[in-house]
Amino acid sequence: MSESTTASGAADVDDELRCSAKGCQATATWSLLWNNPKLHTPDRRKTWLACDDHKESLSDFLGARNFLRDVEPLG
Ligand SMILES: [Zn+2]
Repeated sequence: MSESTTASGAADVDDELRCSAKGCQATATWSLLWNNPKLHTPDRRKTWLACDDHKESLSDFLGARNFLRDVEPLG
């Protein structure tokens, strides 16, 4: 078994399902799937986790930049 989970660039996703909003410690209940066409190939998906309170603001942020691809409930 070989498993490499070393991610370059660090801290966007943790083991815990915690909201990605800055300073928020809440448990995430939503998964926001996004892609920055300038950085990522079209089929690549980055994930931000969001709590109920931040789902709107985080998806607005991504949506305003045309990065948002999908929003899925967690769990
Ligand atoms: Zn939050």
